[in-house]
Amino acid sequence: MNVNQSAPPVPPFGQPQPVYPGYHQSGYGGQPGSTAPPTSYGAYNGPVPGYQQTPPPGVSRAPPSSEAPPASTAQAPCGQAAYGQFGQGDVQNGPSSTVQMQRFPGSQPFGSVPLAPVVSQPAVLQPFGPPPTSAQVTAQLAGMQISGAVAPALPPVGLGYGPPTSLASASGSFPNSGLYGSYPQGQAPPLSQGQGHLGAQRSAPPQASSFTSPASGGPRMPSMTGPLLPGQGFGGPSVSQPNHVSSPPPQALPPGSQMTGPPGPPPPMHSSQQPGYQLQQNGSFGPARGPQPNYGSPYPGASTFGSQPGPPQPLPPKRLDPDAIPSPIQVIEDDRNNRGSEPFVTGVRGQVPPLVTTNFLVRDQGNASPRYIRCTSYNIPCTSDMAKQAQVPLAAVIKPLARLPPEEASPYVVDHGESGPLRCNRCKAYMCPFMQFIEGGRRFQCCFCSCINDVPPQYFQHLDHTGKRVDAYDRPELSLGSYEFLATVDYCKNNKFPSPPAFIFMIDVSYNAIRSGLVRLLCEELKSLLDFLPREGGAEESAIRVGFVTYNKVLHFYNVKSSLAQPQMMVVSDVADMFVPLLDGFLVNVSESRAVITSLLDQISEMFADTRETETVFAPVIQAGMEALKAAECAGKLFLFHTSLPIAEAPGKLKNRDDRKLINTDKEKTLFQPQTGAYQTLAKECVAQGCCVDLFLFPNQYVDVATLSVVPQLTGGSVYKYACFQVENDQERFLSDLRRDVQKVVGFDAVMRVRTSTGIRAVDFFGAFYMSNTTDVELAGLDGDKTVTVEFKHDDRLNEESGALLQCALLYTSCAGQRRLRIHNLALNCCTQLADLYRNCETDTLINYMAKFAYRGVLNSPVKTVRDTLITQCAQILACYRKNCASPSSAGQLILPECMKLLPVYLNCVLKSDVLQPGAEVTTDDRAYVRQLVTSMDVAETNVFFYPRLLPLTKSPIESATEPPAVRASEERLSNGDIYLLENGLNLFLWVGASVQQGVVQSLFSVSSFSQITSGLSVLPVLDNPLSKKVRGLIDSLRAQRSRYMKLIVVKQEDKLEMLFKHFLVEDKSLSGGASYVDFLCHMHKEIRQLLS
Ligand SMILES: [Zn+2]
Repeated sequence: MNVNQSAPPVPPFGQPQPVYPGYHQSGYGGQPGSTAPPTSYGAYNGPVPGYQQTPPPGVSRAPPSSEAPPASTAQAPCGQAAYGQFGQGDVQNGPSSTVQMQRFPGSQPFGSVPLAPVVSQPAVLQPFGPPPTSAQVTAQLAGMQISGAVAPALPPVGLGYGPPTSLASASGSFPNSGLYGSYPQGQAPPLSQGQGHLGAQRSAPPQASSFTSPASGGPRMPSMTGPLLPGQGFGGPSVSQPNHVSSPPPQALPPGSQMTGPPGPPPPMHSSQQPGYQLQQNGSFGPARGPQPNYGSPYPGASTFGSQPGPPQPLPPKRLDPDAIPSPIQVIEDDRNNRGSEPFVTGVRGQVPPLVTTNFLVRDQGNASPRYIRCTSYNIPCTSDMAKQAQVPLAAVIKPLARLPPEEASPYVVDHGESGPLRCNRCKAYMCPFMQFIEGGRRFQCCFCSCINDVPPQYFQHLDHTGKRVDAYDRPELSLGSYEFLATVDYCKNNKFPSPPAFIFMIDVSYNAIRSGLVRLLCEELKSLLDFLPREGGAEESAIRVGFVTYNKVLHFYNVKSSLAQPQMMVVSDVADMFVPLLDGFLVNVSESRAVITSLLDQISEMFADTRETETVFAPVIQAGMEALKAAECAGKLFLFHTSLPIAEAPGKLKNRDDRKLINTDKEKTLFQPQTGAYQTLAKECVAQGCCVDLFLFPNQYVDVATLSVVPQLTGGSVYKYACFQVENDQERFLSDLRRDVQKVVGFDAVMRVRTSTGIRAVDFFGAFYMSNTTDVELAGLDGDKTVTVEFKHDDRLNEESGALLQCALLYTSCAGQRRLRIHNLALNCCTQLADLYRNCETDTLINYMAKFAYRGVLNSPVKTVRDTLITQCAQILACYRKNCASPSSAGQLILPECMKLLPVYLNCVLKSDVLQPGAEVTTDDRAYVRQLVTSMDVAETNVFFYPRLLPLTKSPIESATEPPAVRASEERLSNGDIYLLENGLNLFLWVGASVQQGVVQSLFSVSSFSQITSGLSVLPVLDNPLSKKVRGLIDSLRAQRSRYMKLIVVKQEDKLEMLFKHFLVEDKSLSGGASYVDFLCHMHKEIRQLLS
């Protein structure tokens, strides 16, 4: 089935046109109020808030009254009542706004920020207040002191990875954190292989004596001694960083000297100066900062920037003041303050939306909400030459089935009856607000390809004096950015409307699965979870049928037909030629077969309680599920619960090929590649059948995630991983993920096509899907969390006046088996001035794209090459800005575009992520897992994943209901008298400072002193005091914001677990060799200067 299918013949003129054709709420599978889960099942209420306001089926042709603003409903003519959300009468958010909400220019006029004196050339100061249109971060850097400092320690190219010995040995003793699972000793892949590179990194530290005098930096900066302008993000603690801990450098030891033994306790936070690192001469920068306490001194291991190490440069490292460089926290706070209060109205072309970290409401007035589409830039260069010059990737991150907050309406469903959706005859684009009606409304000109089309008689409508159809505001497809069409039979496989989808639960019952308690836990949970399968609109029960398979080396199918007294098992031992031994009774309706299903689920763990079978198969299991769906002629989803490397003799058999020696070699890429092509072939068959695979892994050792995740990845499924699963420690996380996953609204058997107006076209795609041609993204399943990132290239000149248009069309089968098309439209501006491009970029989206680009790159290129490519591209982007857009200034100054001032810090986080620069504790499976996760993350998820949120808990008043303001992810922002939460969407830490007040310890942990707190604790005691309630409430709220359950880990300062926690303090140098933010910024500046010279 193809989105491009031509429209069916039009019915004769005069066919009565339905009033408001099909404006029913999409009923996106939420539980309607009347059938909401009982409160006793409270845990299920959370995951799908956006869809709980679906109307009962009877009112499907009008939006739910609960969602339409009462005022607009009352004011609009009766015919328009249905469109309260977007009609003229909308007073929900004040007067109808056509105000153009541009990104606030110059919210942080950084002015000149001389970071350090220049050695090679005199610094020329740039006065405050660069042009407000593009506030610049101007930084004057020393002669690349960073690379100078680390260059002597740089290992030969290709050896930058090895972890310090001390960490490697320590990592083996991490408790099983559930992080992404370090293995207990004895089960882990040998770590010693990874240590082979260590020596290369721990070379002699730079000596202070080799530094040249910083005095050569030229004149001091008088302008910096003046008062800071409001909003400037440097020069000491800002509003958003009330907990800034002014922790000057600790007593520094000779670099590297501490790293041969276990890291000692951090020195008390007191002021001292590190030898060799001279303080800024200019007092306005605040105290210079040394290395983090507890790391002793400059980290061993060079900052493996990825570029050529270059010759040693014994230059004087001058510490930059971290407060003087762009702060993610400040940018996020500013955007919240500036843009969080007003709804984002999508009526104006090319508007940059608020940041993903800002809470805002969206009003659809003709362009898709940023919840559905975000772009790297909302202003596209008119020519490919310009685009090449700027090197800014032109990409859109699309989340077609995104969940919406309860305040926003799901897309309306338009029913054009038998004629189906109206499309352009030539390019097949769907009717949208940008189509131009002409000749009195009898024809329309396609906004994508300019083709003139006849308006079918039944769709005819007169135009008003402005040339607009008089019914424009009555029709979603003429006035909204996002809407759905009911598809006709022409859009269905084999010209047959689809059957409702099915879910098949496939449970590993080998020794490990039984012993860990997984099988018992899962079966118990399924008994109640099956009542909460996704359902359509107001349906009383889900249309989804279910089936059950258990397996180890053989497969067991179950007949759970309602007429049976007991379930029947059928064993298939011929795994090489998989077939489904029964059709009737395998896929059943839950309520009809409830007794038999319950009986089965009660028996499974008993049946295999004494199993000694440790070997499993994997590919035959997927094959069986897919064949079952094929036999039932429906799409669906397989839920696989699997524990081990499938080594039993069968198709898709795998061997343990984990080899950490490959890290940082040209063969490293093989660790990310599947070890056999069998899974791609299988995935292709699954896609053809609309069979989506969700995989829950419970490994005790290497299971080859890179290979096992191929089918989930290509079928639009999800992978979850619970290393060393133990019921008592991990059940909350697993059950929470499972509940959410099973209840997720999914579109099945989907095809997505992105059309563009003349001049650009979609050329590349990233995400969890399959493509058999260059344009159609095929998704066996697509849920509300998954994104598809699309890159565009020019194929012609664009026009400033007409702009550029995107239309994303997703054809899919709903949970109830309805075939639909979801359409998202977005209009972008086009520019002939590079400054306009840089003014309308979105760094978070840019990073999302760049991370996905890099994570795909590691499949084919050495990791170092991938990192180099990212750095080069970033430098080119910034150099082009500097050359063409910034006001003239000294080459010694780093000038960043306002919208991209966080690009270096965020890019550095990507570069030092586990996939691109793994630490010793990161397993091959962890890397493959994360790589696969990031591929379909949305912009908000990549934002927090790469730059975690660090929240101080006891600084703000306990009564304060709001989330405490975050602080920068750096150790020097931690106060040892405070407690912090850190989260990145997958991990959640509670860090407790060693000097926290006893009362706080008592209130939170119910113990009398810091020393009595259990390190690694994952549940806080439920205590009846304000602080305990507040912290537990905050943890709940953070979890609710993320698509996966984050297990809590309590980390005490100076405890060995702290190492794990520090991995997420991404502004600091990492133990795996990743650069600190300050160092990376200097490096980036050097790269830019090289490009400009
Ligand atoms: Zn067209």
